[in-house]
Amino acid sequence: MSNLEKYRHVLAVGAHPDDLEVGAGGLLARLAAEGATVTMVIASIPNRYVVRRAEATAGAARLGARLRLPDAERESRVDDVPMHELVARFERALAETQPDLVVVHGGRDGHEDHAVTHRAVLAALRRAPGDVLCYATRLPVGAAPPPPTCVVDISASIDAKIAAIAEHASQFPRTFAETRRDVARVLGAAHGVPYAEVYEVLRITL
Ligand SMILES: [Zn+2]
Repeated sequence: MSNLEKYRHVLAVGAHPDDLEVGAGGLLARLAAEGATVTMVIASIPNRYVVRRAEATAGAARLGARLRLPDAERESRVDDVPMHELVARFERALAETQPDLVVVHGGRDGHEDHAVTHRAVLAALRRAPGDVLCYATRLPVGAAPPPPTCVVDISASIDAKIAAIAEHASQFPRTFAETRRDVARVLGAAHGVPYAEVYEVLRITL
């Protein structure tokens, strides 16, 4: 995918702090560097609220993105929130940011919170225009991505992505961020660029 410069306002949604950095950090950092306003929405902070809020803030800063934290300024879980409240929250975020691109977990993600977040964002999007790309946080090295896909060259933003992942020190061993560099390198090699992320296209307007 090469015409990313058409996107000016981007809304990216993750169930937890760190999901967006791992799943879409390269795309978000590239869009921000190319001048888009990128807003990251986190649906929940399930534990260690103060620590993880600080990590989320630092991670978003590494990507050049704005951050919207959960309304409740305390630990919360996605499955504690009624679906209609989750949808309403994403509707407010959509209304405030007017995105031409939405980035969200894929519907086939193995983590239930991620799948619930996917469904809530899709429900919120039913009357909103704009393109929708889905990311996978559990794509192992060498695994075939779910079709249909688009490939994003993140060679210019791989360092920002890795730095953003490394901000989540409470969640990952020190070596984890660099393993994600390896994943991006393997995906890039399959598509003729140094580093890549892959997305499932849910909706795209040509
Ligand atoms: Zn997660």
